[in-house]
Amino acid sequence: MNFDFSDRVGRVEPSATLAISNLASELEAQGEDVVDLSVGAPDFPTPDNITQAAKDAMDAGHTGYTSSNGIPELKEAIAEKLCGNGVDAEADEVIVTPGGKQALYETFQTLVGDGDEVVLLDPAWVSYEAMVKLAGGSLQRVDLAQHDFRLEPALDELAETVSDETKLLVVNSPSNPTGGVFSDAALEGVRDLAVEHDIAVISDEIYERITYDGFEHTSLGSLDGMEDRTITINGFSKAFSMTGWRLGYLHAPSDLISQAGKLHSHSVSCAVNFVQHAGVEALSERTDDSVEEMREAFEARRDMLVDLLAEHDVDVAVPKGAFYMMLPVDDDDQAWCEGAIQDAKVATVPGSAFNAPGYARISYAASEERLREAVERLAEHDYI
Ligand code: PMP
Repeated sequence: MNFDFSDRVGRVEPSATLAISNLASELEAQGEDVVDLSVGAPDFPTPDNITQAAKDAMDAGHTGYTSSNGIPELKEAIAEKLCGNGVDAEADEVIVTPGGKQALYETFQTLVGDGDEVVLLDPAWVSYEAMVKLAGGSLQRVDLAQHDFRLEPALDELAETVSDETKLLVVNSPSNPTGGVFSDAALEGVRDLAVEHDIAVISDEIYERITYDGFEHTSLGSLDGMEDRTITINGFSKAFSMTGWRLGYLHAPSDLISQAGKLHSHSVSCAVNFVQHAGVEALSERTDDSVEEMREAFEARRDMLVDLLAEHDVDVAVPKGAFYMMLPVDDDDQAWCEGAIQDAKVATVPGSAFNAPGYARISYAASEERLREAVERLAEHDYI
């Protein structure tokens, strides 16, 4: 039959990163050796204690549904962790979700209706725009690219963009795709505007444990005035290398949790039972050493990559967190990325996917050897 598809799905495009990853898979199927720097996943195994906790939970029979918002032990561990960040959190203000992405999806669906205005800070992670559009919202954007991806120098522009009409602002620090970490002064600027115009703020803190140069992450929800207007999103994928486990959460004031909880219970029911038990272990201090080892490895790779690029006279905004870096390329970044993968067999993501034309996003969740190889190949084929 000819399906009459909903307006909703018509509003969004498939992820622009797909073209590149399809091309990478095709080339690999043809026997080519592609250095894949397009993926947003740590290249480490999940720490053993977490995997063991999942096995133990399965053996103990934790294989049925859980209560919709999550098992009490995990919600308590999350609330305790958030309190450690200075966020005044209680276990019943948490919804445990299958991935941080689902937590974001539920938040947008709960807060954004037809025509509601949402402000994004560009370059922004690909799915925010799609989620806003799926919810029927309209977008306003502030471009941080001209400020080396820093928020502080863009606060005036943010002040001009937000108004009493703004419903929601999305902050993601450390940032995907830039690796930028917003300063406390920038976060305070966001707070002042949010309070002045009575705006709700999503703080996506999924990369919080991956910061460099001794920089300490600040949770937006810990600032005075933000406690009753912040939705804190986090997940286990990045810090604990658990992308395939699908575990994340949102924390918000309880009236929002009641509304989002309806969506949660009517869609996913709950996150996977034994995965939630593994999540309790992940948050314990027994995992701290593994998290630190991965963080150190990312920092060493960042340093190496910045130096290697400098040797080729390529200047980048040095990332302060996450495991991404924006490489300045031609204006037609889509063509640059397609060429780089065809000719140099190096896969990156076009900046346009993040509303940042003229850049390619490099993920350095790859070994130092592969990163070195990537830079050599890009130089050899005149891409840098
Ligand atoms: N937020 C950001 C900024 C991300 O980069 C990602 C993953 N790429 C997510 C949220 C969602 O991650 P997950 O669903 O695996 O928890």
